[in-house]
Order: sequence, then C-alpha cells, then structure tokens
Amino acid sequence: MGRANAAYYAAQDPFSDFTTAPEISQIFGEILGAWAAVAWDMLGRPTPVLLAEAGPGRGTLMADARRLTARLAPAFHAAAAVHFIETSPRLRAEQAKRVPDATWHDDLSTLPGGPVLLIANEFLDALPIRQFRVDEGNWTERFVQDGAFLNLPCPAPAGLDLAETDGILEVNEPAEAFVEALAARIARQSGVALLLDYGSETNPGDSLQAIRARGFADPLEAAGHADLTALVDFGAVGRAARRGGAAVQGPATQGAFLSALGLFQRAERLARDRPPEEAGVVMAGARRLADPMAMGRLFKVMAVTPPDFPLLPGFPA
Ligand code: SAH
Repeated sequence: MGRANAAYYAAQDPFSDFTTAPEISQIFGEILGAWAAVAWDMLGRPTPVLLAEAGPGRGTLMADARRLTARLAPAFHAAAAVHFIETSPRLRAEQAKRVPDATWHDDLSTLPGGPVLLIANEFLDALPIRQFRVDEGNWTERFVQDGAFLNLPCPAPAGLDLAETDGILEVNEPAEAFVEALAARIARQSGVALLLDYGSETNPGDSLQAIRARGFADPLEAAGHADLTALVDFGAVGRAARRGGAAVQGPATQGAFLSALGLFQRAERLARDRPPEEAGVVMAGARRLADPMAMGRLFKVMAVTPPDFPLLPGFPA
C-alpha cells in the first residue's frame, strides 16, 4: 500500500480521481484559517509561529486560509511562516503556484523548532495500513503477492482490542508514529494540531478501498494508478497522541465542527453577491461538507493540544 501510494501521488493527478473538502468549497480553508488564528491567540500569540500542513494536495486549503488571515487576523498572518510536509514532487509544484512562500519538508523531522499550528486534511488515510485477521484463535496478516491477496500466519498482534471488530483489524503504524511524534513536539515546544479525515472512533475492521475516476476500483488492479485508502481509527490516533504526552479534543463530526464555526453563515454571505447559478453551487458545496449523508458524519475532526489546554472552537463542551 505504501509503495503503490507513493507511485500514485508521484505520478497521477489525484484530483481527477477524488474530490476533497478544500476543492469543494473555499469556506473550508477560510474556516480553518480563522480557527488557526484563534488557536494562536489561545497559545499566547507566539511570534514567530509555524503554520504547517501535512499533505497539502494542491495547496488550496492553505491559500484560502492565508487570504482570510491577511484580512481578518493580520498579526497572526505576519507571525506565521508556512511549512508544507509533502513527498510528491508533482504536488509540491502545484502547491508552489498557490503558496509560493512556503518551505517544503519530506516529514516532520526537519520542521524548525518552536510552537506549531499544524493542519492535516485527508493525510493520515493515505498512509499504509496492515490488516490482521483472526479465525478460531489463529492470526494471519494480509499481504499481496503476484497480484493476489495472501494471508500468512502471524503471532497475535500486541495491543489490539479484539472486541472492536468481528475478526479483522487494521493498524496504521505510520499514522500513529506521525501523531505520536507530533504530540511529543506539541507537549515540549507548544502548539496545536487539527486532524481531519474520514474515519471511525474504533478499529474500522476491513476498510481498505481503491478510488479511481470518482468511483471504487479493485485495490489489486492497476497498483499505482488508483488511490489506496483506509478509514482512520481516531481511537488509535487519540491513544498515540496521549503516548506522546499531549491531550486531544474530539473527535467531532466535520458537520458539527464546520456548522459551529459559521459554515452556513459564510456560504449565505458568499452566495448573496452572486448570480443564482453560482450561488447554488456555493450553497451545495457547504451542504456537501456538513450533510450527514455526504461528508458531515463520516469525516471527523480531532485536535492535539498541550496537556490541560482550554476547549478550542468547534468542539462541544
Ligand atoms: N490535503 C489535501 C490533499 C489530500 S491527498 C486536500 O485535502 O485536498 C493526500 C496528500 O498527502 C497528498 O498531498 C499526498 O501527496 C500527500 N502524501 C501522501 N503520503 C504522504 C507521505 N507519506 N508523506 C507526505 N505526504 C504524503
């Protein structure tokens, strides 16, 4: 999965296969920009501050966030230096078109020190999972060989809560390692992270999917030409953050989070000045982000904070 996705993101245009929240509505990035400005205030307005994004795609979210903070939060805007964590050279070039003053990194380890505000939308779900199955006490791990699945016997994996699923478990080790390292940094050097992704609150069981040309594909077909993804287990993500010494808030559903932060008020304001057809597109985009039948319930939002941090905007008390 890791090799297939590295090839996929390096060579394909993912946005011809799937659409993400920042590509649906400019309001998504605007709200996250405003949210980051408030979080910065709650951190005591550290200056300078790193404004980081993991897996920024086309750079749309950050461009929308920066446009908003330039107008509404000029002190935060001036204090923030943008850093992108991105491995795909192709997408780095797209990001540079929209956010030319960013600094790029392959992973967390080279980010400069100090307080960080980090946003990651649909980043963790692209990282490779391992899948384990248990049948009458016998464990197997799923591999791929010669284009077919192969289940090989393995010892019982440690630290998994079997009660959570009916015999199939997924573990996203790179996602947990990323969150634990991020949490350790936040606990020591201060900061706040916001993780948004499609996911569950417990182990999702078998959730591996291949997405191509806006539909589902066979994960074993055309490796490197389809996006391989799995649900993010926010229970496991929260435990990883606490192992790193941080606290978490949420997960909230994306619909509740964005609605609490003014998604529809902003949409109505944007729609007001436009011709009816464009206004309809603006309103439909907002509904798609928040509607429980679209992205509103499946997508979750979790914040990683220093221990004993006050409640951030968008999370219910
Ligand atoms: N956040 C964007 C893009 C989501 S797609 C949006 O919402 O539109 C996943 C993003 O993560 C892409 O930019 C991809 O190139 C990047 N990515 C995938 N695996 C990565 C890895 N191991 N390290 C860094 N970036 C990665």
